[in-house]
Amino acid sequence: MLDQLKCLIEYQKIEDKRNQLMRSNEEGLRRTAELEKEFEYFEEQFLSKKEESDSAQEAHRTIERELEELRARLGRQKTRLGDVKTNKEYQASLKEIEETKKEVSKNEDSALELLDKIELLGKELAELEKDLAEKRSVLEEQKSVLQQESGALQTRLDRLENIRQQVRERVNPDLLKKTDFLFTKQAGIAVSSVENGVCNVCHMNIPPQKFIELQRDEDLMQCPHCHRFLYWPGHEGYCINVEDIDSI
Ligand SMILES: [Zn+2]
Repeated sequence: MLDQLKCLIEYQKIEDKRNQLMRSNEEGLRRTAELEKEFEYFEEQFLSKKEESDSAQEAHRTIERELEELRARLGRQKTRLGDVKTNKEYQASLKEIEETKKEVSKNEDSALELLDKIELLGKELAELEKDLAEKRSVLEEQKSVLQQESGALQTRLDRLENIRQQVRERVNPDLLKKTDFLFTKQAGIAVSSVENGVCNVCHMNIPPQKFIELQRDEDLMQCPHCHRFLYWPGHEGYCINVEDIDSI
């Protein structure tokens, strides 16, 4: 059995586990971002309804101020009516009063319409606010679960990193360089088993002579097609049971 090859197989198992944990972590982050986005969408709906309600209230305040002025004007116009000297002036004043009354009535109608709108918006807003509060609490709860999961994953990754460093130290530097290069270039897989003369990762045939050499277990060998380091699981020594990795 080649000790270096055994190290590489272990190294590969660690990388597999590491990738699996990192994917889970990324999935958690993606889920958190998704939940936040969903919440933001509801929050925007609430805020836009709130803005609508605020501007209806502002419009109502403006119309109430205008009504106050109009009523004051009407009062002045009525007072002046008692002072007029001629019939012509009297008729003109009556006309003015009539016009002001019309304006008052128009504004009163608008104010009532606005009040109805404000009441309706208020109900919708209260409903949305309740929904939003519920959604916020659900979001916080889910985020806290995801954070806990992420923390636990990080702890597992840290433990794995320790084992990873130990294995890396056991691999000779040139071989380590080649292996790390393969991890980067070959989708995180640098080591492959060979079964029935076929590389288990690229699924290409290993030339029969090479397969015989591999079974002799005399030297490190790379797949002629994907260049990954090869081992034959027929050698019991390479069927390593890495409980410390599996238990992480
Ligand atoms: Zn291959």
